[in-house]
Amino acid sequence: MAAQSSFVGVLHRTSLPSSGVRAAAQLRRLPSLSSSSSVVSAQLPQVQHRHVSTHFPGGGRRSFPLDRTRAQQRWGTKRARIEGGGAGASVQAYSTGKGKGKEPLNEPPSFAFAFDIDGVLLHVSKPIPGATETLRFLNDNHIPFILLTNGGGKLEADRVKDLSQKLGVHLTTDNFVQSHTPFRELVDGKDGGLKDKTILVTGSDYEKCRSIMESYGFKNVVTPADILWQHREVFPFGLASDYSDTTPSRPLPRPVHTSTAAHSNDHALKIDAMFVLNDPRDWALDIQVFADLLLSSQGYMGTYSSKNGNLTFPNHGYQQDGQPTLYFSNSDLFWSATWHLPRFGQGAFQAALAGVWDQLTNGTAPLKRHVIGKPFGETYRFAERVLAAHRSDSLILKGHSADVAGEPLRSVYMVGDNPESDIAGANGYKSEVGTSWHSALVKTGVWSAVRDGEKVLKGVKKPTVIVPDVKAAVMWALEREGWKKAKF
Ligand SMILES: [Mg+2]
Repeated sequence: MAAQSSFVGVLHRTSLPSSGVRAAAQLRRLPSLSSSSSVVSAQLPQVQHRHVSTHFPGGGRRSFPLDRTRAQQRWGTKRARIEGGGAGASVQAYSTGKGKGKEPLNEPPSFAFAFDIDGVLLHVSKPIPGATETLRFLNDNHIPFILLTNGGGKLEADRVKDLSQKLGVHLTTDNFVQSHTPFRELVDGKDGGLKDKTILVTGSDYEKCRSIMESYGFKNVVTPADILWQHREVFPFGLASDYSDTTPSRPLPRPVHTSTAAHSNDHALKIDAMFVLNDPRDWALDIQVFADLLLSSQGYMGTYSSKNGNLTFPNHGYQQDGQPTLYFSNSDLFWSATWHLPRFGQGAFQAALAGVWDQLTNGTAPLKRHVIGKPFGETYRFAERVLAAHRSDSLILKGHSADVAGEPLRSVYMVGDNPESDIAGANGYKSEVGTSWHSALVKTGVWSAVRDGEKVLKGVKKPTVIVPDVKAAVMWALEREGWKKAKF
């Protein structure tokens, strides 16, 4: 769907950003770096990147293609509209402001935007005033942006299709990152990654979670429902909801060790990693199964590690026996729904599991887990790479050279409604390619100037600017970048 701009006006730029050739050369020379975080490290992008590729330490590495076909169609359409001009042209050439008169834009913007979705672009399911026009404006003026959300539970393609319809703007998966999108990097790796391993997933819908992970390339995905329906004694209670009673399941790929049926480990069910993709529903069942595996020997369901509680091992022996690695896709304690007070999110489930674990270990062994999503740097690093790849791909399709397309972004503006995640993440993130991240806090979401006030905006939670809404945020950034007279 070709975006029809409702913006009127001509953009003027008072100064052009300096060439990034030197930065691009530096980019080519830089070695692979490892994150100081325990969760993710990232390798720097190549100048001519068609794929996004990062890796988790000890995990996999994954490249995935951008949506070239749709991007090509989009840029082809834009080019035709620009070159064709006429009354229907929604993108206009603008002046460099250097006194040379109007000339076509041939130097791409060196800045981009990252938008949170809920509370910035949408409230529940309705567009926030100004959001649609803002995204169309950016599309029409070839200013790159990425949608960066802590939400999840849907296939990226389905979520993008839904967002495109709700916002009335053409969006693609190549500039869209959900909280669990970075998990796709764990599929491959120097040790084979987790592609052929067996993983356990949970979230709001077991089968959707399974299909998401399978879409990333994981081949053996098990849910708590699979275990429950084959071994009801694992959870000897009534189920928490009708949801569980109707949850479909699959036969387990391998048998489980029980008190009456011991199996060779070569043939028994072994879980190598556990993932929480979004907000779980059946907390009791999930916590039971997750705790069983965290206490198991090497991830074999139905076993118990002899190292647990042994003081001669680190962490008092807990999680020291090859148990599955535990991943959470975000740490949000609350989220904003239609109820007038915030509702529990995935972070509440994480706290519950950690609380049970604390009881199991007598407080001697903190629960080891990897958490991504905003505000963690791993997610911003991943987003920056996706954004750079998206921008590069688009610029090459538009006719720019690989060197120009490979120049790193000078600035990215994160527009969000949550000081704890959007703002803190952007402020705390240190780009490996020298990109400066700025933060704009809007008043259309969870942060309330009246209820919370600016007193809570301290340290990394203090935004670069506070603005009424997303449209004002983009206006502010454009002016900061020297783009004048943009009329919305
Ligand atoms: Mg939000």
